[in-house]
Amino acid sequence: MNYISTRGQTDKVSFKDAVMMGLAVDGGLLLPESVPSVKDRLDELSKLTYKELAYEIISLFATDIPENDLKRLIDSSYSTFETDEVAPVVKKGNVYIQELFHGPTFAFKDVALQLLGNFFEYILKERGEQLNIIGATSGDTGSAAIYGVRGKENINIFILHPKGRVSRVQEMQMTSVTDANVYNLAIDGTFDDAQDIVKAAFGDIEYKKEYKLGAVNSINWARVLAQIVYYFYGYFQAQKQGAKNIRFIVPTGNFGNIFAGYFAKQMGLPMDKLVLATNENNILARFINDGDYSTKKVVQTYSPSMDIQIASNFERYLYFLYNKDSEVLRKKMHELKDTGKISFSNAEMEKVRSEFATYSASNKQTENTIQTFFRDNDYILDPHTACGVAGAKAMADADYVCLSTAHPAKFPDVVEKATGKPPVKPDGIERLETLDKKCADIENNLQAVKDYVADNV
Ligand SMILES: *Cc1c(COP(=O)(O)O)cnc(C)c1O
Repeated sequence: MNYISTRGQTDKVSFKDAVMMGLAVDGGLLLPESVPSVKDRLDELSKLTYKELAYEIISLFATDIPENDLKRLIDSSYSTFETDEVAPVVKKGNVYIQELFHGPTFAFKDVALQLLGNFFEYILKERGEQLNIIGATSGDTGSAAIYGVRGKENINIFILHPKGRVSRVQEMQMTSVTDANVYNLAIDGTFDDAQDIVKAAFGDIEYKKEYKLGAVNSINWARVLAQIVYYFYGYFQAQKQGAKNIRFIVPTGNFGNIFAGYFAKQMGLPMDKLVLATNENNILARFINDGDYSTKKVVQTYSPSMDIQIASNFERYLYFLYNKDSEVLRKKMHELKDTGKISFSNAEMEKVRSEFATYSASNKQTENTIQTFFRDNDYILDPHTACGVAGAKAMADADYVCLSTAHPAKFPDVVEKATGKPPVKPDGIERLETLDKKCADIENNLQAVKDYVADNV
């Protein structure tokens, strides 16, 4: 399987090259050049364990990795999860909750980043190359990325976080990783400052080349690929528990998670519509309801990992919406850059609404949903998952599988507010307080970060 760019101005690349490249050189996003169908194999696939299923799906795309190597990479990626099921489905009341938070950092990003870290190590070793990952985080991505590459050969990771502005659990999850290849930098500034520094470092082509900089952002195809697997698994598990007309409802920020669902559907998973759940940052909901894709100011909510206005994976969906016409897509992406919005025709919106529905939850609804779901089912939702469950409850016109993207103990404040008591911490979070920490304070400027990286690679 080869990979093309949504913008159509890059040569085809192999899977391994696509993983190492992240973003296509023409500024587009990479996609497989065709969509493999498993429509005739659903019965067989439904009987597999998570790891077996992951192999069957991923091997359709990672065609340049030999069978035994791929099996080993998948096995070691998901052996770090606290259950062999990896992404189990539990039925609570009339909602199916697919728990994606059983990985090392208790958030769904582990499903993708455990695999991506192993792919990086494998490819770098084969090529005799080195990679220095630099990223900025406001919370979950940083810790999941660190756990994805800790202790791996030929990789260093530098994660900038705004000092004192990430949650205590998130900070400890990052700084308690003391492996020699992991560098936490607490920057004296905001998340935007940290992100600007990272962007500027990548923008310095000479520096980027000399220090072999790489990224782990959500646009890497391998991340989407890892996520396709759990839609299949979740569908089959819900079906076994009696679900019929299955809709997935997905707490969404960057459109990465839900795009994986869209792709699973294109591969032949017979799900009904995908439902996109957002918080008060509702650009994607406005798009689906009103055809209005225009950026607004980001507001802070109880579900910070969805406090996003530009959905970086959205371009992959637009490519399909525009019937794989890269020229139209390029025009639209320029329109977005120049005017802050994209407009859609009625025909396009009809197509969008045949594929997606949406629900936006306010902070109040998020809190109420955590409260009533706990009262009725004795089950604690995290605030991201609660946005999805709020939608499932409000719509109630199908069997909903709600993707649960984080463990509630990562967001104890709103959970305590809603339920009257703090969530019980799993051992992996409880233990964080007692561990040694590794973190350097750093000035809020590009040169300081560049010097730090240069001194440590
Ligand atoms: C990242 C994240 C999301 C949003 O996922 P996208 O792929 O950006 O849509 C939702 N919930 C949690 C807990 C996250 O960490």
